[in-house]
Amino acid sequence: MSIIQVKDLVKNYNGVEAVRGVSFDVHEGETFGFLGPNGAGKTTTINVLCTLLSPTSGTAFVNGFDCTQEPHKVRSSIGLVFQEVTLDNELTAYENLKFHCYLYNMERRTAEVRIDEILGVVGLDSRRNDYVKDFSGGMKRRLEVARGLLHRPKVLFLDEPTLGLDPQTRRQVWDFIGRLKETEGNTVFMTTHYMDEAEVCDRIAIIDKGRIIVCASPEELKSSLKGDTIYIRTADDEGAKREIRDRFGIEAKTLTDGLALLVEGGEKFIPRIFEELKTSIVSVNLKRPSLDDVFLHLTGREIRQTGNATRQA
Ligand code: ADP
Repeated sequence: MSIIQVKDLVKNYNGVEAVRGVSFDVHEGETFGFLGPNGAGKTTTINVLCTLLSPTSGTAFVNGFDCTQEPHKVRSSIGLVFQEVTLDNELTAYENLKFHCYLYNMERRTAEVRIDEILGVVGLDSRRNDYVKDFSGGMKRRLEVARGLLHRPKVLFLDEPTLGLDPQTRRQVWDFIGRLKETEGNTVFMTTHYMDEAEVCDRIAIIDKGRIIVCASPEELKSSLKGDTIYIRTADDEGAKREIRDRFGIEAKTLTDGLALLVEGGEKFIPRIFEELKTSIVSVNLKRPSLDDVFLHLTGREIRQTGNATRQA
């Protein structure tokens, strides 16, 4: 059963076409990722689904409610964790959660039980009476996710949940999000521009320039490439690219540093490159397909080359 249904969604901001007609369904209980570079239209889509923005055209339903016609019903059935930290630093973890319970009109006893439960889920029960200002970035994120889950939303929306965190903390947060499905059982809709992290999703929609270019499981996406990626750096990348085209009939993609070639049987191809390429080779690496390669293959660009780099962690 679909818990989110989006059809032909368009959003323009004064002439900027941020979302150009996206359609997708998210199944109940699924962890669904919206993956794309900065500026692709991820936040705009999530904001429409959370009723923070009205679409220019198209329809969006969450939990059976129309995001435009029934925003209050949508809001009471979702939890939202924004990109920015929105906790009150001057309150304790418990007080931050308690405040959220007031906002959602939760009955006092139910609220106390649920706060205890959710602090356990995010592993912060021993820190419940500590001030948020003393928390690390990862702990703050976990507390925000806990807050988003307090009222048992059917769908939890996470907008770039690991933005600004160091790599180790990012991994912890993603492991924890991966486990949420088992502990809480709700649908998770998340956005990210980190390819490796999208691996925790059951399905991923890759979005670029306001359009969904593919939607499938990480495994399906990777196996659709049918080959390995060879990364090669040479003394003259443009010359090598021409040579590879002429000699092997393969169109290499130009990266910030070197070239990428999609080939079947990569390990057999590498000796041929060393033998036959006239341009001198600096390094060669073979990689089994990753989601980075899927994006590169579909768009001809690296995800890191695109968009606004200043928003990357
Ligand atoms: P993402 O979340 O994938 O980084 P966004 O949805 O934030 O992408 O942005 C998509 C496009 O819409 C970008 O070109 C961005 O500059 C533009 N945009 C986003 N918000 C606004 C706004 N309030 N006014 C004008 N343009 C905007």
